[in-house]
Amino acid sequence: MSKSSIGIDLGGTRIKLGLLQDDNLLEKRVIDARSEQGLQANLPDLEIAIDQMLVNNDVGDGALSGIGLSFPGLVDHTNKRIISTNKKYDDGPNLKLDDWARAKWNSSFYIENDARMAAVGEWIFGAGRGSNDIVMVTIGTGIGSCAIIDGHLLRGKHFQAGCLGGHFTVQYDGNRCTCGNLGCVEAQASTWNISKMVTSDPCFADSSLSNESKIDFQTLFSAAAKGDELAGRIKVECMRIWSAGVINLIHAYDPEVVILGGGILNSKEEIIPFVQNEVAKHAWCPWGDVEVRASELMDDAAVLGVAYCLANPI
Ligand SMILES: [Zn+2]
Repeated sequence: MSKSSIGIDLGGTRIKLGLLQDDNLLEKRVIDARSEQGLQANLPDLEIAIDQMLVNNDVGDGALSGIGLSFPGLVDHTNKRIISTNKKYDDGPNLKLDDWARAKWNSSFYIENDARMAAVGEWIFGAGRGSNDIVMVTIGTGIGSCAIIDGHLLRGKHFQAGCLGGHFTVQYDGNRCTCGNLGCVEAQASTWNISKMVTSDPCFADSSLSNESKIDFQTLFSAAAKGDELAGRIKVECMRIWSAGVINLIHAYDPEVVILGGGILNSKEEIIPFVQNEVAKHAWCPWGDVEVRASELMDDAAVLGVAYCLANPI
């Protein structure tokens, strides 16, 4: 009998779930997240979605090999505990999710940082196939990162190596970040600060963006494409900030491939060549050129990665 597993990717605004069998995604679901209310408050909705997928796919008792959770924070995968959060699911460190999975489904449980799981998904199934030296950067509500070096997933003594690329300093006297640092990549150019970046600009009143009820990267790129001066300028500024973050990661971790993922990749035709060009101009890589690629799996990357890790501990 084939074993099934459940992969869950906890995002800031959406939770993606998938049921896998033999590395095939049999069913996917997306539910709204209430990350500001904590993780405990989201568990009942998760339980309903998981139970429905198990019923739909005839996964009975004993056929579920495990539940894997991809989490947006620092995670100790050995003790299956959330170590630290950053304004999302802040009750996470108090929860015993291993006990939750065992009590509810009598199944094993795995948990890891979300960018790490997206990187593993891309490495095994997507844009990273064929390389063992990869950096992944996910740009969404926040910015996550992961380094795979010579085929090893970098974690470090305190489980935070490689996954804090969103908090590399790109401007030493820049915006205060939710992490406590100043001028992080995430504090300079991510979904949570884009609105402030636009509305505090002296040219805002003259921009078409002043008519938008919500300003995110989609509205920014769309206004820029229509010739809005402010949107065009801030778009380029954001792409330069992301490029600086990517170059820092290249200098730190020596990858041959950098994979960019997250919601902004809807504009990958502009972003990938821009970042690739900045990397070619400014990264110190005497051995050759680091290739910048777009995520192939997008929303499925972390779901596939965490489900893979359940069956293949790495
Ligand atoms: Zn930060």
